[in-house]
Parts: sequence; C-alpha cells; structure tokens
Amino acid sequence: MRIDIITVLPELLESPFNHSIVKRAKEKGLVEINIINLRDFTTDKYKSVDDYAFGGGAGMVMMIEPVYKAIEKLKSEREYDEIIYTSPDGEKFNQKIANQLSLKNNILILAGHYKGVDQRIRDHLITREISIGDYVLSGGELPAAAITDAIVRLIPGAISDEQSALSDSFQDDLLAPPVYTRPADFNGWKVPHILLSGHAAEIENWRHEQSLERTERLRPDLTREGENG
Ligand code: SAM
Repeated sequence: MRIDIITVLPELLESPFNHSIVKRAKEKGLVEINIINLRDFTTDKYKSVDDYAFGGGAGMVMMIEPVYKAIEKLKSEREYDEIIYTSPDGEKFNQKIANQLSLKNNILILAGHYKGVDQRIRDHLITREISIGDYVLSGGELPAAAITDAIVRLIPGAISDEQSALSDSFQDDLLAPPVYTRPADFNGWKVPHILLSGHAAEIENWRHEQSLERTERLRPDLTREGENG
C-alpha cells in the first residue's frame, strides 16, 4: 500500500510515521508513505501557496494552481483509489472508514491549510472528504497523520499479534475491555481474579461482558443500529 500526503508543512509530518507500528510497517515493506511539499509546485519566487479570498473576508485560501499541479503529477504516476481532503465538514472518520481504506492500494491525502483549499479542487479532484472531529485544527497534517496511523495498523502483518488490532475498540462496534499487567496487587489495587485463573474460555467471556458493559455505559450509540455508519 502507498499513502501520499500533500502538505504545506512537511516538517510537521516528519515524526509521526517514524515510530512504533507505522515505522515497522514501513520497514517490512507493507506501506510506503510519501510526504509531498506543496511549495515544490509553485513558481512564485517566495514559494507562496496561498492567496486572498475572492469576495474579501479574513484569512487566506490555498491556491488552486499548485494543488492542481501536485495532484495531476501524482495521478500521472499511478492510479489513486481515493484522493482525500481533510476537512472539518467532511464525513466523520471512524474505524469502519479506516477498515475500508486499509484495503486500498494507493491513497492520496491533501492536508488543507489557511481557510482551506479553493473549492474547485474539492469539486473536481477530491474523491472523499474526511473530518477527524467537530473541532477546527490549524491544518490537515495532524488529521492526515491520524488517518494514516489508523489505516496502517490494520494492514495484515503491521501488528505482530493481529488479534490485537481486531480486538481494539470499535472493531465490532464495541469498546475494548480493560487491560491489566503485573503486579497483580499494587498497593491493594487488585487485578480481577478471573484474569489470574488461567481459564481461557472464562476469561474470553469476561472480556466480552466487560466490552458490552462499557459500550452500554460509555457509548450506547455504537450498538444502536444505523448510528455508527
Ligand atoms: N475554514 C475551515 C472551516 O471552517 O471549515 C477551517 C480551516 S482549518 C483552519 C485549515 C485546515 O485544517 C482545513 O482546511 C483542513 O484541511 C484542516 N482541518 C482542520 N480541522 C480539521 C478536522 N477537524 N478534520 C479534518 N481536517 C481538519
């Protein structure tokens, strides 16, 4: 799988993909992640990629031309399954979307900046718009990193114990059960006895019950049909 990210702030994306599971997935050749600097596609001598908004008002807009050139160049080199624009008004990102995207071969993500990108890019070149939540960040780099991380950990082989990704929260519309490690007693705070019993089937049952109870208590919307996509 290949994920390309177009950004005006490549420095912001230097670290997120160089640690832990994503780093290992890259090393194993499961994913290739490329950061494309939008400023490489401007002829402006100051390398600017923003301009005033037509109609006035505060804030700058990402210019159409460098974005168009960057996307068209990348498209001429390979076919993209999705060209994603990160945007607060996009569809809300969740585990189902991460699952879908983890099955693709080539994904291009345009990280927005300023007041956002010229609407004509969204109308003509973007295939999917994704929000990571109902709040506004300064740029699309952190959303692009969050989306990429959620996708990569789902690629078979990215996590050594694949069960671990499958048993994460949301994977089956349930929250994950609580987890514990040694010591079994810390200052009188004890680990649930069942986890020390060695009865695999009973432990599995207990975990499932915990998942159900937590989901009902913390996120009842997840199990109501149709509310989670
Ligand atoms: N004017 C835009 C609006 O009100 O919807 C917000 C622009 S924001 C300052 C700059 C860029 O950050 C956006 O174009 C988008 O790419 C990214 N961004 C900000 N919040 C986001 C979110 N919640 N989800 C995804 N992308 C976001």
